[in-house]
Amino acid sequence: MAAGGYTGRILRVQLGEGNFKVEKLPPEWIRDYIGGDGFAAKLLYEEVPARCDPLSSHNKLIMSTGPITGTLWPMSGRTVFVSKAAQTGIWGESHVGGFIGPELKYAGYDMLVIEGQSDKPVYILIEDSNLQILDAGKFWGMKTHEVTAAIKREHCDPDIQIAAVGPAGERKVRFSSLIINNARAAGRTGMGAVLGAKNVKAIAIRGHGAVEVNDHEAFTKLAKAAHMRVRTNPQAQEMGKWGTWILTAVKQEIGELPTYNHRTGVFPGWEKLSGDYIRPRYTISDRACFGCSLGCKKMNYVREGPFAGTLGEGPEYEGLMAFGSNLGIADYPTTLKANQICNEYGMDTISAGATIGFAFEAFENGLITTKDTGGLQLEWGDSQTVIELLEMMGKREGFGDILAEGSRAAAKRLGRGTEQYAIHVKGLEVSGQDGRTHRSIALGHATGARGADHLRSLVVVDQLGYEKVARERWGADKLPEIIDPYTEKYKATAVVESENAYCIRDTLIVCWYSVSWPPIFWMKDFADMLPLATGEKSLGDVKNLTRIAERQVTLKRLFNTREGITRADDNLPRRFTHDPMPEGPGKGQTVDLEPMLDDYYRLRGWDLETGLPTEQKIRSLSLEWTKKYAPSH
Ligand code: SF4
Repeated sequence: MAAGGYTGRILRVQLGEGNFKVEKLPPEWIRDYIGGDGFAAKLLYEEVPARCDPLSSHNKLIMSTGPITGTLWPMSGRTVFVSKAAQTGIWGESHVGGFIGPELKYAGYDMLVIEGQSDKPVYILIEDSNLQILDAGKFWGMKTHEVTAAIKREHCDPDIQIAAVGPAGERKVRFSSLIINNARAAGRTGMGAVLGAKNVKAIAIRGHGAVEVNDHEAFTKLAKAAHMRVRTNPQAQEMGKWGTWILTAVKQEIGELPTYNHRTGVFPGWEKLSGDYIRPRYTISDRACFGCSLGCKKMNYVREGPFAGTLGEGPEYEGLMAFGSNLGIADYPTTLKANQICNEYGMDTISAGATIGFAFEAFENGLITTKDTGGLQLEWGDSQTVIELLEMMGKREGFGDILAEGSRAAAKRLGRGTEQYAIHVKGLEVSGQDGRTHRSIALGHATGARGADHLRSLVVVDQLGYEKVARERWGADKLPEIIDPYTEKYKATAVVESENAYCIRDTLIVCWYSVSWPPIFWMKDFADMLPLATGEKSLGDVKNLTRIAERQVTLKRLFNTREGITRADDNLPRRFTHDPMPEGPGKGQTVDLEPMLDDYYRLRGWDLETGLPTEQKIRSLSLEWTKKYAPSH
């Protein structure tokens, strides 16, 4: 029998054979990997061959949940999609909220593994033990909201949870996403292209079971207290009111609001992209994911102007930045419209916006011209051009076909020195932060397993000066440097410790908010809760949780090592290391990355010269089994 919290079953969809297969979840995975990201890392490493084409039948798309997914624990409705990334060719993962993760658990499965390739368009139906691969010929070409509505109608079930591929995923746009029930996106690294390449248009899930935890009474008591901690936290209350838009003003104040393709961190039009401005004018209701007591999502509507009639959730801070400040646009309706187009076509907002920013700057500097763009003038602040380019990218039409490859590949194809304006790490475009004014994120972006990642190790405590929290976590001897955003010293300590805690967060799986920011739950809270949920006593030890986290970070690194990643790839765009921040509180700042990398590898037990995990580290984390799957074998 499975430990509490788990269904104990993995569902495989074998597209080539048109079969389903239900397997037992290996019980030792619970002790060694907990769930979520951890389970997926183990499975992906073992089953996806090194150096395979991410768009081939050899790649797999994994949907994974954790032991508390679908329980009473606050914000436990999240799930993760993992694959070899279509955009970068390395480790790919994308977390998403909403209700689809709990639905998979209620249907009776901890994980879904989609393998092989169908020879015709299909969609996958999972209704408890009713498992079907159904014809999707009539849905092919539909936008995500259209196919979502059509499948719900077809099965007469408004509550069925749907992860859909849009036209972008069908056309294998490298940064295409999966859109869950019209609004939530498994956005980054190209999960839409992986599923599109398998000829799968959608995954529809409906479950009628329940999740049984090990000690119902004690778990419920702790979960209720955890909800109260969220509900009474002043910063969580602010987040509930303003959503992530709260960040626009904060970022502007500290000079870290990406503007003009990350050239600067100060945007004159920031006020029109702030929560204070947006909420009273455009927000019509608040929304929340499964089991959330914070509720950061907002439904918005544009009443007048060129984008009148646009209705949708979002964009969050990252979308506001990507289609607003970073393109010189001080207009919320443009960002909502751009966000909607991305959701309908199924494209990642961060990468789509950043790739347009790359094109704008290359055009400004005369490296590309109207001959490349098919006559389009690319100018900062031009909303209509942004909308036009997004449509072209989603359809892979004209210049949009080049941009659909993402900024790194587009720059390679265009040449002429355009590479300098592609702001990415390992092929993934940089999110809404800037290492020049926040050194720990510089290190996080450089070392992130999936590329420039703001979710795996972003240390907020240092940047926003949470001195008390910093003292408790890292010790008084590391103050004040560890919370000085302009100093490299001790930043590896903060990054490694945060990455470990977030790793456990992503195995449970719970939302970023309340763990990463505001800092409500940390390792001790997980250690107190996990034995009650699972009955596995070893998960009640913080030291053991830290070792599990280290194992996962190192396993992802080994996955990337198989694909050729070394220290040389743990870098930053030249803009952050050589171009001083031109204005704002961080004026004159650049990143000195190498000393932080040395510290990071030392703390991780990775080789300083190559950045690869040492033999000793591999042994100490019981990862010797990975050698069996190395390319030479
Ligand atoms: S805080 Fe926001 S993203 Fe997180 S679970 Fe709640 S509504 Fe979803």
